[in-house]
Amino acid sequence: MSFTLHGLGVSGGIAIGQAQLLSHATLEVAHLTLPGRQLEKEVARFEAAVDRVRNELDELRNEMAESAAEMRAFIDVHALILQDPELVDIPKTLIRERGCNAEWALVQQMDYLVKQFDAIDDPYLRERKADVVQVVERVIKELMGRTGKIGKTSKSAKGVKEEEQIIVAHDLPPSDLISFKEHRFAAFVTDVGGATSHTAILARSMAIPAVVGLRGAREAIRDGELLIVDGFRGVIIVNPDERVLEEYRLRKTQIELERSKLKRLKKADPLTLDDVRVDLMANIELPDDVQAVKENGADGVGLFRTEFLFLNRREIPSEDEQFEAYRKVVKGMAGKPVVIRTYDLGADKALDQARSATNPALGLRGIRLSLSEPAMFGVQLRAILRAARSGPVRILIPMISNALEVEATRAALDKAREDLKDRRVAYGEDIQLGGMIEIPAAALALNMFLKRLDFLSIGTNDLTQYTLAIDRGDEEVAGLYDSLHPAVLMLIAHTLAGGEKAGVPVSICGELAGNPKLTRLLLGMGLRHFSMHPSQILEVKQQVLTADVGQLAPMVRKLLRLDDPAQIREQIRRLNLPADHSAH
Ligand code: PEP
Ligand code: MG
Repeated sequence: MSFTLHGLGVSGGIAIGQAQLLSHATLEVAHLTLPGRQLEKEVARFEAAVDRVRNELDELRNEMAESAAEMRAFIDVHALILQDPELVDIPKTLIRERGCNAEWALVQQMDYLVKQFDAIDDPYLRERKADVVQVVERVIKELMGRTGKIGKTSKSAKGVKEEEQIIVAHDLPPSDLISFKEHRFAAFVTDVGGATSHTAILARSMAIPAVVGLRGAREAIRDGELLIVDGFRGVIIVNPDERVLEEYRLRKTQIELERSKLKRLKKADPLTLDDVRVDLMANIELPDDVQAVKENGADGVGLFRTEFLFLNRREIPSEDEQFEAYRKVVKGMAGKPVVIRTYDLGADKALDQARSATNPALGLRGIRLSLSEPAMFGVQLRAILRAARSGPVRILIPMISNALEVEATRAALDKAREDLKDRRVAYGEDIQLGGMIEIPAAALALNMFLKRLDFLSIGTNDLTQYTLAIDRGDEEVAGLYDSLHPAVLMLIAHTLAGGEKAGVPVSICGELAGNPKLTRLLLGMGLRHFSMHPSQILEVKQQVLTADVGQLAPMVRKLLRLDDPAQIREQIRRLNLPADHSAH
């Protein structure tokens, strides 16, 4: 039967392929009721999985160097949890008495234990909840016979090329998407997520269509079913009939044709009709993204989200490993500038779930976390300084909200230089330091930063989230998330004007910068430095080439005085009309 689901299109394009269902270990286990004769077998399967995890933990502990005392203690805690009858005996009772499958029995018991932890006052003990969850995840992965989540083809997908597989999941946390990047799936769709969630950002950076917030898609779609994903309209069509399929095949071919035509613009200088030079830089997450940056003729890397190097692993990357990663990017860009953002961990990109705060987006994230972990921050700063010998590097601080953070970062940079000097390790001089304007306070108290920093970059994703108090990853409020809200536009305009007056360059590296429908608006607001996913550069360049800043500026000034979102949208539509129509 053919049916359609509506969600939020977060990465444009059309994909046609077969559904590959992914599960998150603890969230989505099957709920089965087993016949009595199978129950002892199920108990044995559970026991075998627990044994395998015990052995795995033993092995890990033995492999660990004596010096890694903290990690050993961590593994010991997990091994202890795995001996607790609450976790290893009660699920067996649930299997025997209620006929549950092993995964479900374990998750039920985990949920029960987690609730008990929540009621504990002692924060240390409360944090052990995350250890319980991690141990349960390990056992469930064993039960499911999987060690890695992404990339294992399910039965139905056997024989189907990756390029024809569409990932269907409840959620794809950023850490999973890293492994996703090594693959070439056709598209992905998820039950949850908002337009600027990091999963959406990664989909755009991989230039594959994605629809999120499809509530219930994971339940409604079966493995191997034929899907059409329309990332423009935020629609997926399950089991389409031949007529619809033909229509979409045609659209897909047209889009591919238009994309290949755009390639001709790769070498064109990004100049407006009235000769205003614009910088079109690229956002990257991993060193290998440099290839796409070059293929699209970017003017440099405007945002390297280094935190992605830290996800999906047990230890933080060493100074040498980080140095190699940064140097690869700097060398790859062959003299073009590279803006390295210090790791923006925390919130949805947490290193350690055990630390999750009550309100992580307002908690220890970005520069706050870095300054609270001077040793880890020092490792990164030294690695960046060393890489700066290979080309022009700028450092960007995420989530700044006060001057002390800038001063503390400068002090940490001085210390990193001293440490390298002591070790007689060479490093690059003259590194510019910039800050992200993504908290309304930073935009409002702009002078605080204009005085202290060499450049600014507006993170419109977080700026929108914090200005409107709308979680950027929550599909329930996704309809209210609006980067064109007059309040957000005011803060952007204020920051651009302040930067211009003080002679401090300001860029935008949030998702707004890569939307070709907003290029003229941003040009008219005075933006000259854009940073976006490599795959968006040519489309934005096409807009730059046909824009006349002299004509746009007065129109945009008027637009910024409007306070009605519908009128703002209408005026933006007018800005995008060909030059001689728009003036009227
Ligand atoms: C932003 O907030 O706009 C931004 C560019 O940073 P990130 O999306 O990584 O939070
Ligand atoms: Mg941000």
